[in-house]
Amino acid sequence: MAPAQLLRVRGVVQGVGFRPFVFRLARAHGLAGWVLNAGEGVQIHVEGPAPALDSFVAELAAHPPPAARIADIERGAVAPRGFVEFGIRESAPGGALTVRVSPDLPVCEACVAELFAAGDRRHGYPYVNCTDCGPRYSIVLGLPYDRQRTTMRGWTLCPACAADYDDPLDRRFHAQPVACPACGPHFRLRHGEREVPGDEAAIREAARLLAAGLVLAVKGIGGYHLACDAFDAAAVAALRERKFRKEKPFALMAGDLAAARRLIELPAAAEALLTSTARPIVLAPARVEIPGVAPNCRDLGVMLPYAPLHHLLFAHGAPAVLVLTSANRASEPIAYEDEEAAARLAGIADAFLIGDRPIARRMDDSVCTLSALGPAVLRRARGYAPGAVARLPAAGPILALGADLKSAITLVVGGDAFVSQHLGDLDHYDACRAFQETVRDLTAMYEIDWQRVVVAHDLHPQYASTQFARTLASSKMVPVQHHRAHVASVLAERQALDRPVLGIAFDGTGYGDDGSIWGGELFAGSVRDGLARVAHLRPAVLPGGDAAARHPVQAAAGYLAELADLPDLTAAPFGFPPLYLRARELVRKGVRTFPTTSAGRLFDTAAALLGFTRPISYEGQAAIWLEQLARGAAPAAPGYPLPFAAPELDFRPLLAAVIADRRAGRPVAEIAAAFHHGLAAGVAAAAVELARREGLDTVVLSGGVFQNRLLLERTAALLAAAPLTVWTNHQVPANDGGISLGQAALALPAAGAGLPRELR
Ligand code: ZN
Ligand code: ZN
Ligand code: FE
Repeated sequence: MAPAQLLRVRGVVQGVGFRPFVFRLARAHGLAGWVLNAGEGVQIHVEGPAPALDSFVAELAAHPPPAARIADIERGAVAPRGFVEFGIRESAPGGALTVRVSPDLPVCEACVAELFAAGDRRHGYPYVNCTDCGPRYSIVLGLPYDRQRTTMRGWTLCPACAADYDDPLDRRFHAQPVACPACGPHFRLRHGEREVPGDEAAIREAARLLAAGLVLAVKGIGGYHLACDAFDAAAVAALRERKFRKEKPFALMAGDLAAARRLIELPAAAEALLTSTARPIVLAPARVEIPGVAPNCRDLGVMLPYAPLHHLLFAHGAPAVLVLTSANRASEPIAYEDEEAAARLAGIADAFLIGDRPIARRMDDSVCTLSALGPAVLRRARGYAPGAVARLPAAGPILALGADLKSAITLVVGGDAFVSQHLGDLDHYDACRAFQETVRDLTAMYEIDWQRVVVAHDLHPQYASTQFARTLASSKMVPVQHHRAHVASVLAERQALDRPVLGIAFDGTGYGDDGSIWGGELFAGSVRDGLARVAHLRPAVLPGGDAAARHPVQAAAGYLAELADLPDLTAAPFGFPPLYLRARELVRKGVRTFPTTSAGRLFDTAAALLGFTRPISYEGQAAIWLEQLARGAAPAAPGYPLPFAAPELDFRPLLAAVIADRRAGRPVAEIAAAFHHGLAAGVAAAAVELARREGLDTVVLSGGVFQNRLLLERTAALLAAAPLTVWTNHQVPANDGGISLGQAALALPAAGAGLPRELR
């Protein structure tokens, strides 16, 4: 009898057309046996001539279906059973639930073709999908992944769809969300008292209203969007006013790649990001100016259609470029339930385009950008979550709760680190609820035993996530210092847990070992042996503590108090408002002031000195403003001094130079550039000195401040010239959205990790 083998394939292998693919591949190789979905992935029994078996496995590993992500294939000889055919078997129950849920996928080309093929039974159907495309995580209610455990369970397949679903050779074989106009959910439009039923009529009317300048709430994959014509300045202004969003840039959806190319600069790597299966918003230098969309910003955030509905809207006459922003107010999470959306968006949207298919969990659009160091995720959500981003070899499960701003959690099961979608800022009730739901959601999905789980959380005693950690029934709590977590997030991504590095965390704020507000920290060490703080920005005081983050002049009052011979900053050219004087009074009296080494607040101080004297209207705004200003300057401006005398980087000469040049009337763009260049040069010089002292050859850059491309690229270039190896975040954000991954890595010793050689 021919030899037989049993293969166990792990990774994203369910709900992505894996079994029909295996079926066709096995038949093409003349092999017999079966394939089935099991708790830990896909199992394949194949028998046939040895060379055919080998080439079958090689082909499987090299060219899996487009949406699949194979983590590993375990392969062993078993007794042949004398099969004569290859078949697809029913799912095997039980087994450890380490099977991965696929992120949501964009509609594929074959489905788009059907969408626009006259006479096709899914012509114009906004819920068209197949095993290569469509919703996944956003409709999953439980595991294993089948229709009864998705939000499609309320719709029964018609005979035609059932035939597609049951045919191993069909593109829709076991596509759980499969549907058609005869049996599936539909869209309708609500405009005041008027309701337009029927997919085509509703979508046509929505497109017409968008073209007429109205603001629409549109139900998407992970929640509702607010949409309007991007080139209709009045519509954009109305949306801003109703959404209480003064200045934060809006994301755009371009009808197609050609339209996107007219909006932003798209080198090949950026285009690859834009068209990748995550279909993120790509933040790139703008090629056009669109009034009101991204005030004071040289970048635009653009995405391409990813749901069939988006393609239909553009085809039915919607404006070629839409503002498409999460339906919420300020930094609340995206609305995803119909009644919730109707209530929350009542005063914002003129009309609602509503789809019947429920959304299991809210999911914002992801945001990516491209720097000289490669692609970076700034917000990780739809299309990425809940993908595994790293192997963390823990003996038991780890739940890491992240930070309070830009919350996201990480769950480590079976050595895989799954990072949740972006959940928002936990000081909002809805975000806090989403955070708790996500903890329940992921731990239930992977059947986590609360007695065994190690819970990692931020060191900050007042964080909502820390307080939530205390309510959990876990026996092991691991507090992790915020900036060490930032550095560790990069090392986790790189699978370099034993690698000794110099880690630089430049950040807004985080709770330090000594209870002060850290944010300009340099560490030496590794994830395995711990990260020792070896240097930091010279401490300043922050009047009003974290509240100073909203008022650049308030932060400035603290940092500038360190300087001698300060001019009157309320006078020209500075024109600081009275808030500055009140904050300076707090500093003088030592009332409600907190020591800080925050690099973020240093940026705020420089921004205030160059004219950003109003309060910010979104997080990080002053620093972003300063970067945009600097990018407008002629290149090669020499930097201001930032001397290093261990363990302190002294910011005083840097700020003194900013003040002197401003008073001398130097153009503010040039001053902003010299500030960036000086900071980069000072940090790089300190890092080179410390790396030499500690015998290190690798520098890690993380923390929210390194989302600043100018600072990141300049610092990295200087370090690379040293020469040192430079690593930064790619898969999780450098901002607090990446904290939970770093926490999980630093909790490994507590989780009884035995680090295998391969990860050192
Ligand atoms: Zn498809
Ligand atoms: Zn049907
Ligand atoms: Fe942070």
